[in-house]
Amino acid sequence: MKIAIVGAGLGGLTAALSFIKRGFDVTVFEQASELKELGAGVQLGPNAVGVLYYLGLEKILSQYTTPTEGKNVRLWNTGQRWPLFDLGTLAIELYGFPYLTMHRADLQKILQQEVLRLKPGAIVLNAKVKSATQNGPRVGIEFDSGSRHECDLLVGADGVHSAIRASLFGKHEAKQSGIMAWRGVIDTQKLPSHMLEKVATNWVGPGAHVVQYPLKNGALMNFVGAIEGQRWDKESWSERGSTDECLNDFVGWHPDIQTLIKAIDTPYKWVLKLRDPMSSWTRGSITLLGDACHPMLPFLAQGAGMALEDGYILARCVEKYASAIPQALQRYEALRLERTERVVNGSNANAKRFHNPALANAQGAQAYVSSEWHEEKVKERYDWLFRYNVEAVDV
Ligand SMILES: Cc1cc2nc3c(=O)[nH]c(=O)nc-3n(C[C@H](O)[C@H](O)[C@H](O)COP(=O)(O)OP(=O)(O)OC[C@H]3O[C@@H](n4cnc5c(N)ncnc54)[C@H](O)[C@@H]3O)c2cc1C
Repeated sequence: MKIAIVGAGLGGLTAALSFIKRGFDVTVFEQASELKELGAGVQLGPNAVGVLYYLGLEKILSQYTTPTEGKNVRLWNTGQRWPLFDLGTLAIELYGFPYLTMHRADLQKILQQEVLRLKPGAIVLNAKVKSATQNGPRVGIEFDSGSRHECDLLVGADGVHSAIRASLFGKHEAKQSGIMAWRGVIDTQKLPSHMLEKVATNWVGPGAHVVQYPLKNGALMNFVGAIEGQRWDKESWSERGSTDECLNDFVGWHPDIQTLIKAIDTPYKWVLKLRDPMSSWTRGSITLLGDACHPMLPFLAQGAGMALEDGYILARCVEKYASAIPQALQRYEALRLERTERVVNGSNANAKRFHNPALANAQGAQAYVSSEWHEEKVKERYDWLFRYNVEAVDV
């Protein structure tokens, strides 16, 4: 059986490795001329870390991840702090795996190197796919260059602007969320000592929030600032903004936020769009994974996590039902639909929570945080998410 995956992002590479480890013949087609994630971090919940550990990457990951002591909620103007959850020992005790933060480029490189170690030549670069069609039991892939390729199973892991999804289902219509995100990576040598603690923080305020967490064992700090208001319209990892524009969006915020923004090397901006969950993303021997089928707001920090889980569960289903590919893909989709839809909806709900008007002043914030981030409520929002174990799922 020949398997083709379109897209060598975190989801496509995880799927490729999951298939290769099960003995399948896989080729990944990637439009870029080299694999390099732009500077940004990624948070990986215990559910996502489990996927990577099952793929045998625990040892190599430990060289690149930052043991983060905990996660806090802080108030936008006073800096008042409330604990959110433990990211170390307790996460392992409860879920079997830690909660990790790392540079996206490091994760992509680890996955790429492992895929190529096990199957040299498995990743074809400069290969932009235009469309895909089912021809009897086989799948034809057409490239922008005019060349063609045939396979028995095709996975569209080509992200939010997926050509494979468009080929199968038409364009995935997007609605504005009214929220923009600033992203940046900071050299921590530029930060004062009181800002170097290895904790992840969600700063919450009316109409905006900021997420910061350490990368590369504290050498870098990741910054994401989400703010309501429509000021640009590009969903792109490479759209640059300026420090002044970013500072302007966080006027009145705590001095630590001002310090962080001034220290960002290049601030990038990204418009956050909403897409309704798909009711199906499989046709015959073609399926989708990750942002290609369930893009989401990044407010549960689980988009990449879902793509990783998809890849692993997909390979398990294909292994189990290898003689009947469409059946294997239907089983994969059925196993993933409800969970990913719940994450999409949970991410939307966090936008309202993180940006709530009750956070405007310290008194309202105390009452709101005590209720919304109460231990029981946090458990209700995250426990089902972190507890998912890709090996325990009955495929
Ligand atoms: C600001 C922000 C912060 C985030 N933080 C987190 C976080 O902390 N934790 C988390 O889990 N998630 C996070 N996410 C979400 C996460 O980044 C995505 O969900 C994840 O990258 C999706 O992975 P993917 O492999 O599905 O798609 P992508 O990463 O988009 O990869 C798609 C790949 O396909 C390639 N491609 C596209 N079209 C074609 C084509 N036609 N032919 C060939 N190749 C093609 C692309 O070049 C790319 O390499 C965040 C997102 C944003 C915007």
